[in-house]
Amino acid sequence: MTPELLPPQSYRFGLLGWPLGHSLSPQIHAAALEASGLSGTYHLFPIPPLPDGAGLLQEIIERFRRQELHGLNVTIPHKQTILPLLDGLTDQAMAIGAVNLVYLEGQRLLGDNSDAPALLLDLQHCFSLQNQVGTALVLGAGGAARAAVYALLQAGWQVYVAARRVEAAQRLVADLAPPASVGGMDPLASLPLGADALAKLPVCDLLINATPVGMPPLADSTPWPDGVPFPAGVKIYDMVYNPAQTKLVRSARAGGHQAANGLGMLVEQAALSFERWTGSNAPRPAMLAAATDSLDTIG
Ligand code: NAP
Repeated sequence: MTPELLPPQSYRFGLLGWPLGHSLSPQIHAAALEASGLSGTYHLFPIPPLPDGAGLLQEIIERFRRQELHGLNVTIPHKQTILPLLDGLTDQAMAIGAVNLVYLEGQRLLGDNSDAPALLLDLQHCFSLQNQVGTALVLGAGGAARAAVYALLQAGWQVYVAARRVEAAQRLVADLAPPASVGGMDPLASLPLGADALAKLPVCDLLINATPVGMPPLADSTPWPDGVPFPAGVKIYDMVYNPAQTKLVRSARAGGHQAANGLGMLVEQAALSFERWTGSNAPRPAMLAAATDSLDTIG
């Protein structure tokens, strides 16, 4: 039997990634700890991509095993490279193939993916979806797109994935597609991220940008092709949140569409992490306020 872990007197959390210059996570978690009356700190661990960062990555994991750390978030480029260092994955992290949250359960270091539930919760919040489903289009085929596709399929959406390298979208479809319903439409399909393909999309209720297009150094760009009107009635969610109004969000609103940035998703994945590590309810309003203030400071 593994001994129960007692809560530490002071929590030590952190974020692994590269680069981490503008991360909002330290401020979001500092606000969560303070509003919950808990003592603790949140550190940034900039670890270069492998192979250069392999030793540092191993060292941080060993510190976690020694309980010198009590919670880790993981971002680009280590969401996949960390997998072999962990003792197990939740079902959703296994299906998505990427981890953004590491925690200790007994003596086992486990990985989860809180981006997927965080996106669904924020979509409900931003667009008052009330469990409504339809057809979604996800732009990009990286880790965030995989989490989005997984979450939307689980919730019952039909999903198209568009990527500039269509083979990356095809690979995502091969990895995540559920069995097609007999005689029905495939619940997941790929297409190239280009004007011709997107202009022909028969229907699209929800568009999600899961590419970095719209954030610096691509802040003057939008992933949606020039000259193609947005599908009628589409709601647009941009996972990018810096700047707060990306070019995609601005053009969506100018066309009369509901649009939101990804700040709520960022805060929600942080809240889910905090709850996993501390067992306390996350103080979401304080966390969102800290994120918004920090973004204003950066911007
Ligand atoms: P990733 O694994 O590197 O994937 C990025 C994807 O975008 C790839 O498919 C990539 O295609 C594509 N892409 C990159 N530049 C492009 C361009 N100029 N035009 C078209 N496609 C392009 O990154 P990720 O982890 O999925 O993150 C994607 C974005 O989501 C980032 O901006 C990240 O900050 C944001 N994100 C936000 C949250 C949140 O909580 N709001 C959470 C996770 C991620 P190639 O493979 O061809 O390069």
